[in-house]
Amino acid sequence: MIEATGKSILNGIAIGKVKLYKPPVVDIQPVKADDPAAELARYEEAHEKAIEQQWVLYDKALAEAGEENAAVFEIHAMLLEDDDLINGIKDIINNEQMTAEYAVKTASDNMAQIFAQMEDAYMKERAADIYDIGQSMLDILLGNDVESLQGTEPSILIAEDLVPSETVRLDKSLLLGFVTREGSTNSHTAILARSMNIPALVQCKDIDDSWDGKDAIIDGYKGCIYIDPDPELREELTKKYNEDKEARAMLEELKGKDNTTLDGKTVKVYANIGGPQDIKAVQENDAGGVGLFRTEFVYLNSKDNPDEEAQFKAYKEVVEALAPKLVILRTCDIGADKTIDYMNLDKEENPALGFRAIRICLTRKDFFKTQLRALLRASAYGNMGIMFPMIISVAELKAAKEILEECKQELLAEGVAIGEYQIGTMIETPASVIIADELAEECDFFSIGTNDLTQYTCAIDRQNAKLEPFSDTHHPAVLKLIQMTIEAGHRHGTWVGICGELGADPTLTERFLRMGVDELSVNPKSVLPLRKIIRETDLSKPAE
Ligand code: PEP
Ligand code: MG
Repeated sequence: MIEATGKSILNGIAIGKVKLYKPPVVDIQPVKADDPAAELARYEEAHEKAIEQQWVLYDKALAEAGEENAAVFEIHAMLLEDDDLINGIKDIINNEQMTAEYAVKTASDNMAQIFAQMEDAYMKERAADIYDIGQSMLDILLGNDVESLQGTEPSILIAEDLVPSETVRLDKSLLLGFVTREGSTNSHTAILARSMNIPALVQCKDIDDSWDGKDAIIDGYKGCIYIDPDPELREELTKKYNEDKEARAMLEELKGKDNTTLDGKTVKVYANIGGPQDIKAVQENDAGGVGLFRTEFVYLNSKDNPDEEAQFKAYKEVVEALAPKLVILRTCDIGADKTIDYMNLDKEENPALGFRAIRICLTRKDFFKTQLRALLRASAYGNMGIMFPMIISVAELKAAKEILEECKQELLAEGVAIGEYQIGTMIETPASVIIADELAEECDFFSIGTNDLTQYTCAIDRQNAKLEPFSDTHHPAVLKLIQMTIEAGHRHGTWVGICGELGADPTLTERFLRMGVDELSVNPKSVLPLRKIIRETDLSKPAE
């Protein structure tokens, strides 16, 4: 048995025969063209075909991996239309009188190198895309047929590297997994494979052509590939493979079902998101709504302060796409670890205890009003909740609500439509728990942010890895504060959810249900596993 390691891009097992995926090495020599006009025509035909091909790949990726992952092919189509690239290729054919192959290779390599040397990380990454489009034109000119390299039997491919267009063109029914010597875990190829649920390793330096045709198993949990695995290992990993398959099928079956315990208590299971790019994950994982839209990511993803229109667009897109499901948008929680250059915030000794979230918003009223106006305008398009972070006093909550009301009156005076919305408070400071009765009088719902609540209760900086030995994620004080919040909310008819990471902890689900929590908002992938636990829980039996 041979064992080799790499970086895993998916926790999964693939079992099958290895197929060596080796595109023919074409050594493109500087050959003078006999007929430059004919070369130009060959290039123009290949160029047109390559653009068409990108849109075919776009549609394929859209169906197999979703819009966000398909976008790379839209970029490719745009890059193919780039004037500098087109003129560079044509110059080499017309002025240097070279073949179309040589012109395409030289001009695209030159352009890719320019991008590779750029400072900006986004631009740097485009170098791989330019190599990819150059290769797609070369494949057409040379008559290379990528699909045929895969063979006709289901297999684990091993390759030096795979570019996104190759990954999409591969027949998924024959692709059990793949292992590459190059590549990174965040490359488009890795992201595509992950979203298509294909176990794969990148950066596996020990890949060897002699593996071709041999039996193999990829263990994505460990980041290993085994060639000619021992019988015991094969048995163990086959068992794990079957368990994974069953678990996936079981979760699929839970789509459309209620989050109801065996004794009949139903809770809401919502998703946490960071922007419109996550709409698909909410839908695919059948979340009942969004319990936390961290709107600061709209700011963090923007080079400049996003204006009212840009924010409105992002909020509307989410609210409208998910209507009539409830979408709770938390107002901007900037500060501490989430800093933005254009905000020009001072450096602070204790940023987690510093000028952040609602404190910034109440101080910079115009900044806050821009967001509130965008939120209120978006409320007309669906079912919205507006939630304020880091609240420690009733005065703060009232002040935030007053500014919201001011924005509402301004918009109504401007004749702008506004929908119904609920108002909520994040409970993420011990102070807010202790005054939860008073806060509950002022809002429709609470959402417990256990990440910050744990940090502030235990005085453990959540960013500081050195403190892990001192940290107890199930600290009894935090659990007691959660219980107190739920009880206080319910005394005043305010519903209570949990949107911090603890909400997704399966070992606490039953406990939270017994406390009477109304909603759990978790990362989209945890929605169905949580539904499974809830449906298997019986609260009429004594707690274990
Ligand atoms: C929390 O503090 O638990 C929370 C959900 O907010 P964030 O993680 O964004 O601070
Ligand atoms: Mg928080």
